[in-house]
Amino acid sequence: MSKVLKFGGTSVGSAANMRMVAEIIKAENAKVTVLSAMSGTTDSLVKISALAKNKENVDSVLSFLSDKYTTCIKDLLNTYQSEALKKCEQVFSGIKDAASTYNGLTTEKQILAQGELLTSAIFTFYLKELGYKAQLINIPDFMFIDENGKVDTNKLREKINPEIAGSDADTFFITQGFICTNAEGKLDNLGRGGSDYSAALIGAAIDSSEVQIWTDIDGMHNNDPRYVENTYPIRKMSFDEAAELAYFGAKILHPATIQPCKEHGIAVRLKNTMNREAEGTLITNDGDSQKRFHAVAAKDNITVVRICSARMLMAYGFLRQVFEVFENHKTPIDMITTSEVAVSLTIDNDKNIESIVEDLKPLGKIEVERNSTIICVVGKIGYSQAGLAAHILESIKSIPVKMISYGASARSMAFLVDSEYKKEVLRLLNNNLFNLC
Ligand code: ASP
Ligand code: MG
Repeated sequence: MSKVLKFGGTSVGSAANMRMVAEIIKAENAKVTVLSAMSGTTDSLVKISALAKNKENVDSVLSFLSDKYTTCIKDLLNTYQSEALKKCEQVFSGIKDAASTYNGLTTEKQILAQGELLTSAIFTFYLKELGYKAQLINIPDFMFIDENGKVDTNKLREKINPEIAGSDADTFFITQGFICTNAEGKLDNLGRGGSDYSAALIGAAIDSSEVQIWTDIDGMHNNDPRYVENTYPIRKMSFDEAAELAYFGAKILHPATIQPCKEHGIAVRLKNTMNREAEGTLITNDGDSQKRFHAVAAKDNITVVRICSARMLMAYGFLRQVFEVFENHKTPIDMITTSEVAVSLTIDNDKNIESIVEDLKPLGKIEVERNSTIICVVGKIGYSQAGLAAHILESIKSIPVKMISYGASARSMAFLVDSEYKKEVLRLLNNNLFNLC
């Protein structure tokens, strides 16, 4: 069965890396290869778009980007060099034009899409130069979102399968992650880091056996290597565990990626382009039956909202009213704890916090506290076994804990601390949990 391989920005960040990618897709016999833009591109395009919005000059950022792409093309291509340089010039003059006639979000999205379009075009030229059968798929002709950003997976399936079936079996299909067409028929995207999600959607649409996400680390780690020594890649985990971790800051995999693969039973393998031999992480429905604790992850910039109200006592419908306020402001709630007279909940996007607080005021006394961090322990933390929650909390007994979430699922326990304690908590948990298998 076919495989979909996705390569992140660093994996396609230079000519040398693109050569490695070509070797990998050959060795893995990839049916579809989904590419991000070369590293740093989307950030630069965001900058360009912000400058254009303020009617400022975009030339220096643009020439930084075009130098990067030109260098790559000159290093990578011979036969197709002039064609690729021409494409590059077209793209950059297109960005300049778009910037000079900036017209809101539509222009911004058009600008943001160019990195993936250019990178995939260059890589396809390279495969052709190597003598491979390669076909570039323009994903905006296949991936459509509605007004709410929801992808039309039926349309993707209906359109992409005949496209693939129409070519020789040994053709490598190269396409763009991240980008799509919106309800107005304009270029749009699936959100920052969305290429992983593109790969998962394509994998599901073509009934692939495996989606591989290639980055620059050896899989998902059991803890954050920036703060803790002796972390290691997790060999196997379940989709549900990966979903908990992906949300809680394990940035290696975009959280939305998991759903399509889980639903279609497609294995997801996380691999390292720079260290191909490393096993990486395999995510399946089964996971790893041996391990008790899999990983610890943290998420910063959490805001706590506390609602204290005597009206909640014995009342029904109170929580619905609270949730409705957040829903009206399109703000997801992450963690929640309740007592008889109070509710505490956390959000990571506090853009609308002022109006949320205004709308909550009729419900009770409201407090808002920023600079918190959620720490999540993922593993088999079932409720039927005594001592597991105690073991976790015992490990961090020296730290003030502001909220605890336990019992929602049998695979995670999360708690909230002031962000200043984050590193300490990660270290304490590392020392105490991962010897207990
Ligand atoms: N290039 C896009 C970004 O930087 C999408 C991706 O890499 O997943 O967000
Ligand atoms: Mg990414």
